[in-house]
Amino acid sequence: MDFSNLTATQCVNQFASGEVTATALVQSCLHQIQQNDPSLNSFIRTSDSALPIAQALDIKRAAGKPLGPLAGLPIAIKDGICTAGLKTTAGSRMLEEFVPVDDATTVKRLVEADAIVIGKTNMDEFAMGSSTEHSHFGISKNPWNHQYVPGGSSGGSASCVAAGLTPASIGSDTGGSIRQPASFCGVTGLKPTYGRVSRFGLIAFASSLDQIGPMARSAEDCALITSVISGHDPKDSTSAKNDIPDFLATLNQPLKGLRIGICKQHFEEGLDSEINDSVKAAIQVLKNLGAVITEISMPHTPYAVAAYYVIAPCEASSNLARFDGVRYTHRTEGVKDLAEMYCQTRAEGFGNEVKKRIMLGTYALSSGYYDAYYLKASKVRRMIKQDYDTAFESVDLILGPTTPTPAFQIGEHSQNPLAMYLADIYTVSANLSGVPAISIPCGISNRGLPIGLQLQARSFDEATLLQTAHQFQMETDWHTRRPNQ
Ligand code: GLN
Repeated sequence: MDFSNLTATQCVNQFASGEVTATALVQSCLHQIQQNDPSLNSFIRTSDSALPIAQALDIKRAAGKPLGPLAGLPIAIKDGICTAGLKTTAGSRMLEEFVPVDDATTVKRLVEADAIVIGKTNMDEFAMGSSTEHSHFGISKNPWNHQYVPGGSSGGSASCVAAGLTPASIGSDTGGSIRQPASFCGVTGLKPTYGRVSRFGLIAFASSLDQIGPMARSAEDCALITSVISGHDPKDSTSAKNDIPDFLATLNQPLKGLRIGICKQHFEEGLDSEINDSVKAAIQVLKNLGAVITEISMPHTPYAVAAYYVIAPCEASSNLARFDGVRYTHRTEGVKDLAEMYCQTRAEGFGNEVKKRIMLGTYALSSGYYDAYYLKASKVRRMIKQDYDTAFESVDLILGPTTPTPAFQIGEHSQNPLAMYLADIYTVSANLSGVPAISIPCGISNRGLPIGLQLQARSFDEATLLQTAHQFQMETDWHTRRPNQ
């Protein structure tokens, strides 16, 4: 049986009602992966335990035992998130053989909710990139057109959902890595508020920006998964103690009177005209649903990419110092002393993009340059945050495009990294300021590639994001479009 069109919510409901077994759901995913993933490369590996876990779940249901809120849901996990007993590489040669002893808190919560981890998805090495071209395990393809990238760094997590290999996945977002691939592949992706979801077990890229979140076929599915993975975790000192609202309960509330700000800096130079048109059409849909639209200005938006590409490499250069060949995995052979072992291990273990960022970060943090770069970027970050604070005095949500262009071709930006960095223009600000943001499909380009719309909200107001996205999805069918494989 082929269940590749089911949403996460449908999987959970149909399993609970006995319409389908967990074993059949998992077998369907594994079959889809076997058929389609050799050309897509969205998975680095599948889990051998998925099937036995599904069988145990079927027995549990048959015995009438209580089921978790995600019972029966096959879910893919980005390979930068630790899974106990299952290799976790962060897309790097450095961690090629790394088998974590613990699950990340997110994975633990998914498993406790009776979701089934189906496998680990491909990603840019250490989550550095926007195309999944920087993975040690090969490039992932966009299922809408294999000549195009699926976005990144959570490209595998987006392409596997878009292609119907699995109903949902987990990604991480440091500067857009959930939202940008979601928009390139035509799926829904949520970056929760910084602190909403524990980062314990997420292999750190830039700790003050990193956040874990869901990718799925609808806002409703994202709400379901976010309810499970949210919440305080004593193992992550930056995780917040805020209450978790019932994200599913508010999905159906009408949007009447909701104030949505359109940031004028999001529609200036560099925005593809088809994206402009699709986003404008989406605004009209929300207006018809009763939202009140106003234009706002966030004057520091043009500096966000520059600030991000100082802060993120600085934090990365420090976080990645731990990969030294002594702990964890890759270690070079045949060296004469310890210093050579460190150098050679890092030279072999890291790819070029990661090396570049480590060098940039180390330079920007070095004495004499710290004030000019890191401190300056931190000040700009504060000003960007102030733009949000001001905006949220008069509006409830900020709406705009997720990316300036649809997916680009594989190799298109390989000679021009700056062009790739600039593609993060609309997504990095949410990470710099910590606010939650969601990308939802809102169109298809003339070339047949998906277009995404971004909504951003006040910190800890994921409920309004999910509600608005859900109401939009009740009115439109962009999120139900599938690529022709
Ligand atoms: N594209 C951005 C970068 O390369 C964001 C990556 C991410 O969010 N992990 O840093």
